[in-house]
Amino acid sequence: MQDYLKTVFKTIRTYGLVEEGDRIFVAISGGKDSFCCLYALKKYVEENSLDVDLRAFHISLGLKNAETIKRIVEKQCEFLDIELVVCNVKDYGIDLEELRRKNRPVCSACGVVKRYLMNKVPRELGANKVATGHHMDDFIVFFFKNFLGKNFSWIRKFTPLVKSEHPKLLTKIRPLFHVGGKENEKFFSRFNLPKASPELCPFFSLRSKLYEKTLKWYEMLYEIEKWSRGFRRQMISSIEKFVVEMKESGKENGAKQKFIECKLCGELTSSQDGVCGFCKLKRL
Ligand code: AMP
Ligand code: ZN
Repeated sequence: MQDYLKTVFKTIRTYGLVEEGDRIFVAISGGKDSFCCLYALKKYVEENSLDVDLRAFHISLGLKNAETIKRIVEKQCEFLDIELVVCNVKDYGIDLEELRRKNRPVCSACGVVKRYLMNKVPRELGANKVATGHHMDDFIVFFFKNFLGKNFSWIRKFTPLVKSEHPKLLTKIRPLFHVGGKENEKFFSRFNLPKASPELCPFFSLRSKLYEKTLKWYEMLYEIEKWSRGFRRQMISSIEKFVVEMKESGKENGAKQKFIECKLCGELTSSQDGVCGFCKLKRL
């Protein structure tokens, strides 16, 4: 437990993820990773007696099981005595079930909606940073996938701290950058708390093949780790260095996203037609 927190605290300190006066919203899904993220941030703030406003933030997708997931999230927050802010996608004019009925790709729509609300809602409530439970194994797998897809500009975001590049964009922090899924699972299991599993999503079957494929990627990391100890740590450390060198050499400048404000809602978009992905979904 101590080693786990020591690793996470080192990431927080090294990258200055938490600073005096911060107002951080921690995006929690009900899963183990985001709970661990919330736990570690709370402990860090307490141990360093920082004046930081830490809140949990949950996006309720308005689907079957949404209430079950919300109750799990509430239990996790009660356990930590952290204030929880819940926002419902339906209040923002999004009906994922309706999109599914119209045969729209509901999983990618869900991703668009989460990313949009994860920035907009906390910002409007006064946050300056948003934290997520993305962890080391996530970033290694993202790295492989984006590298294979030649999406090099994406790789620059694989860092514990993604600073805001626009007043409407919150700074993103990933305190679990140096711990993996297995470590989170072990840490979480000590608390005897409920967690939301991916199968609770009513559309799980739509992406079960993709999910299985992703699990295979994770298994591969642990397989390599068996005969090459420290593989994951070496990989993440190389990714960190790679991102720093990419930035220093200025090669990423051309890849920097250019934002404009959406013609309809005023949130940021890089879309050519000036309408953000969220507003396009609303139109559907
Ligand atoms: P995922 O893409 O589902 O692996 O989630 C990555 C991170 O996004 C999680 O660790 C959470 O921090 C955040 N997240 C995912 N789903 C939600 C949600 N419904 N509400 C708030 N945050 C979420
Ligand atoms: Zn918009």
